[in-house]
Amino acid sequence: MFTIKQPSEIVYGKYSVPKNNFPDNCLLITSRGANERGWLDYIKLKNYFIFDQVENNPSMTTVDKIIRDFSNEKISNVIGLGGGSVLDVAKYCGFKMNKKKILIPTTFGSGSEVTRIAVLKVDNKKQSFHDDRLFADKAIIDSYFIENTPDKIFKNSFVDALAQCSEGYDSKLGNEYTKFFCEEAFRYLENGIITENKESVVLGSFFSGIGFGNCSTTLGHALSYVFSNEGISHGHALAFTTTVSHKFNDSKYFVRFKNLIKKLNFEPIKLKMNLEDASELILDDRKHLDNNPKLVTKDDIIKLLDIINSEKTLE
Ligand SMILES: [Zn+2]
Repeated sequence: MFTIKQPSEIVYGKYSVPKNNFPDNCLLITSRGANERGWLDYIKLKNYFIFDQVENNPSMTTVDKIIRDFSNEKISNVIGLGGGSVLDVAKYCGFKMNKKKILIPTTFGSGSEVTRIAVLKVDNKKQSFHDDRLFADKAIIDSYFIENTPDKIFKNSFVDALAQCSEGYDSKLGNEYTKFFCEEAFRYLENGIITENKESVVLGSFFSGIGFGNCSTTLGHALSYVFSNEGISHGHALAFTTTVSHKFNDSKYFVRFKNLIKKLNFEPIKLKMNLEDASELILDDRKHLDNNPKLVTKDDIIKLLDIINSEKTLE
């Protein structure tokens, strides 16, 4: 038996945000620079509250601060406008404040707007929260925002979506529905890079969110977090960790994934911490490893990390 869950309303299309009638007294959660980037003019809110200090890799402290700062205001809805970090904070606040959540991604990759997952730091460690109450009531996917995305952010977000759909395709929790979405997602994302069509990337990221959000990511994601802890961005780490994982799993996406990564030209990454300690940490990540199509041992993990560190090319 399989259950499929997603936000109750999903709106997508270029310029869909300004066509939306937002209620009064929304709490807009976003990141610094939202105003300079013209987002506030574009969304056209009336009588709203704003928190525009969401940091990268946000912590639960930010969520608590927002709830404290706005607890005496009559908030109608919570709107998250930004990248994955902003959306994760907004969905957690909306859930805690018991308000409806409207999520609008401005970078396309995390799929956060359509999933029940929020990643927040607790005690300085990234933790992922999975709960149906984290779903957006409405997700608005407007490709307008991708036009001005800096190259580096575009690349990192793209790889996240690409890793999510291809790991999701292989996940043990997968089913016909998730495989359908993951497969289409990969096709749209790949086509987006080959034909330089950003619209296609936006759709690919959306489909990837629906696909992996209803199964899971696997080994590639499990391996990536030790790199993130050393300051390497999520997408950049996945460019390498998902490549070696696809090879390990004999994934049908190995070659296509590797070729796209090559095209995007990422700097090699190196793990500073001891591989033995890293593998212990990674092995604890049962949420990802239990859904991996192949059993993974501590030795396997050390070998995979070593391939990344020594910049070996996989054939
Ligand atoms: Zn991811």
